[in-house]
Amino acid sequence: MSTIVALSTPRGRGALAVIRLSGPDAIAIAQRLGLTEVEDRCATLTTLTRPKDNDVLDQVLLTCFHTPHSLTGEDVVEISCHGSPAIVRSIIDSTLELGAVLASPGEFTLRALSNGKINLAQAEAIRDLIAAQTEAAVKQASRQLHGELSVALGPLKEKLVEAIVVLESAIEFVEDDLPAPRLQEIEHELATVSAGIQSLAKTYAAGRLLQEGIKVTITGCPNVGKSSLFNALIQRERAIVTDIPGTTRDTLTEAIDLEGIPVILTDTAGLRETTDGIETLGMERTRRAMGDSDLVLVVLDGSAELGPSDRDLLSQTENTRRLVVRNKSDLPGFNLSGCVGELQPINVSARTGEGLATLRSAILASLHNNGIEDGGLLITNARHYDLLCSTQRELEAAQSVLLEGYSEELVLAPLHNALRFLGQITGETTTEDILSEIFATFCIGK
Ligand code: GDP
Repeated sequence: MSTIVALSTPRGRGALAVIRLSGPDAIAIAQRLGLTEVEDRCATLTTLTRPKDNDVLDQVLLTCFHTPHSLTGEDVVEISCHGSPAIVRSIIDSTLELGAVLASPGEFTLRALSNGKINLAQAEAIRDLIAAQTEAAVKQASRQLHGELSVALGPLKEKLVEAIVVLESAIEFVEDDLPAPRLQEIEHELATVSAGIQSLAKTYAAGRLLQEGIKVTITGCPNVGKSSLFNALIQRERAIVTDIPGTTRDTLTEAIDLEGIPVILTDTAGLRETTDGIETLGMERTRRAMGDSDLVLVVLDGSAELGPSDRDLLSQTENTRRLVVRNKSDLPGFNLSGCVGELQPINVSARTGEGLATLRSAILASLHNNGIEDGGLLITNARHYDLLCSTQRELEAAQSVLLEGYSEELVLAPLHNALRFLGQITGETTTEDILSEIFATFCIGK
């Protein structure tokens, strides 16, 4: 096994940079560079020198983690040096001269996986944790890193294995078919497993939103204040605000953090009749953004009468998940009671900020029925979701074969498939190909 090396902190200048070495020669290489103390998990202040000419590389803090109690399960040395790209380069070059090889993306985590330090779902959680943009996403990733998904799947897997064992032994050892009460028991067990898998899979609707961000599109007629509202929500002047209708011609997107939940906010070109080619293109994009979003904010100018285009938009978005926002509440002409029929609009002023807190809460509240804030474990990974769905399909197939009274062999085939799919979530039965595909999405040094 080779000894790998990589910079584990972001590239560029910083107060510190951390270089990691992992493998059988990690400690020997550190010693050749100047390490004298190799006590486990003790940071030692050391001056590193280049072996070939004894030039000083840097004064660093070195920490050794002896196998198997390390991140990768191998001997690991962490070098905390000054964060200069030139220093980092010369330290890494010196380790390469001493026989280390550059790590490929995700190789540290892959080694941790191969050495049984973590399972696949946890390895993916490390990647998600690093990519997490908001508090809620961090929480979900760290739950998975602590193995909650495996814990949730554990009892379901056990029940499935029990059912398989009973059916397999019936084929091997029982002369006659299994008695009806025993079959009913198995049926019951499978129904429990199936319900458990289904309820986990259902959490993906919320988990996906958390992972990718909730797409919220601001739409409305020209000049109602969409760009002003967009700027007010992202809390800076990103979109151009003018009183010339048709100024926003393309969609603008920014990510914001609403109480720990990532929201991808899009400002769109106003919808109106026009002959301007560019504006028409902009409107096409608006329609696309609306179709692609999780929530639409339909903005109206509350200080003016509703026009035909406003009414069109309200009827077009009737069956869309939407919030109706009446802007410009600071103007004297603003009609508080509104004239949007049954709708309960949210009154705001993008100019003064009045009503924005209510709007933010309403955006979050509209997502509540997705379970995003329930505090439970969520499936956030499309691969896990696909595997849960495949497991579910196999379980359903097994159940129907069982109900129709077919032989145990026919029930067993889908049950084995279900077990294989479940195993792929945590990586017990994952083939090399899938592994390398997953680890290619990691960054170097992780
Ligand atoms: P959009 O075309 O819908 O994106 O509208 P803009 O954000 O460009 O705003 C159009 C005009 O309305 C600009 O002159 C803004 O200053 C004005 N405006 C936007 N929001 C408000 C508001 O809450 N109150 C007042 N008084 N004017 C606003």
